[in-house]
Amino acid sequence: MAAITISNLVKTYPGSTERATDDVSLTIRDGEFTVLLGPSGCGKTTLLRMLAGLELPDSGSISIGGRDVTYLPPNKRNLSMVFQSYAVFPHRKVDYNIGFGLRMARVPQAEIDRKVRWAAELLQLGDYLDRFPAQLSGGQRQRVAVARAIVMDADVLLMDEPLSNLDALLRLTFRSELKKIVQDLGTTTVYVTHDQSEALSLGDQVAVMRKGRIVQLGDPLDVYDAPADRFVGGFIGSPPMNFIDATVSPAGDTLLLGDQRLAAPSILRSFAGHGVQLGIRAENIGVGTSRSSGDIAAEVTVVEPMGSSVLLTVDVDGHTLKVQAPPAFKAKPHERIWLGFSPNTMRFYDRETSMALEAK
Ligand code: ATP
Repeated sequence: MAAITISNLVKTYPGSTERATDDVSLTIRDGEFTVLLGPSGCGKTTLLRMLAGLELPDSGSISIGGRDVTYLPPNKRNLSMVFQSYAVFPHRKVDYNIGFGLRMARVPQAEIDRKVRWAAELLQLGDYLDRFPAQLSGGQRQRVAVARAIVMDADVLLMDEPLSNLDALLRLTFRSELKKIVQDLGTTTVYVTHDQSEALSLGDQVAVMRKGRIVQLGDPLDVYDAPADRFVGGFIGSPPMNFIDATVSPAGDTLLLGDQRLAAPSILRSFAGHGVQLGIRAENIGVGTSRSSGDIAAEVTVVEPMGSSVLLTVDVDGHTLKVQAPPAFKAKPHERIWLGFSPNTMRFYDRETSMALEAK
């Protein structure tokens, strides 16, 4: 096991004018599960490949377990990797595939057999050791790839979208199994995904990336609850965070949404008279069919029963919002309902920079 320190990594691919990673720094504690999350092309895989030694940075450094590995070849870094494409040998049976790295490292055969059996049991492949990959399901093939990585006793486990070839149900099952396995092993893990629910469910910390940079790093719940900017709030969460233009009253105590008024949380005192953007998650908006003190009026436009909740699209003075109501909430399009906003779930953003506002 080992901590990882990534310092100021810059990488531009030959022929490209844009940096694939742009001054990325990141600290990962020993045994921590870190997820690199972001849209396609944001630089996640490039960062992972530099950690693996499959790409070299233009500048910056990487240390693993206190050792500078920036320019070491992959086999000198003591890490193992799981790819989206499984990368298993099709003409070799499962036991050979799982033991492949150990064989390359010239581990004695008895030890290879013992470790292959151990990993196969852990990943529920015990009955399939004698099969070829083509005789397995996609989920089982990905298990083989994970088993092959964990038998290596590596300091660091790197995973690049390992669940994305699986169907939705299998993804969900394997996700929690993978979490348990990695937790039990306690290996420092870096995991790349563009799936925000995967990032939230797996990570001890989540690094949200955009255009080659880490835009927010934190505990998954913090990233979800308090996005650092509009991009993060829109990328994480389903539905994405609602963002509405609002104005703080000259006295700083009221937030005006069109003609409607909300009590302004104290952070807005220093923005009296200014335009801001209110960010609020769908599940943090209270709903009612009659008015409670402090509520604002909305008109329902779309009702989507989701089973465990009802997703409402509503109009507030020309602003469209998503609201998550309890499953039993009865609403029809064109009906008027009342929305409650509690001050501690409201977030505020600068209209120009889209960055979260800090109390001045
Ligand atoms: P995805 O989720 O689609 O894999 P990503 O976040 O992992 O995306 P990268 O694959 O790291 O992103 O790519 C970052 C940027 O670098 C992109 O603009 C991409 O086009 C570019 N890039 C990646 N690999 C190469 C390469 N081998 N040669 C040139 N440009 C590349």
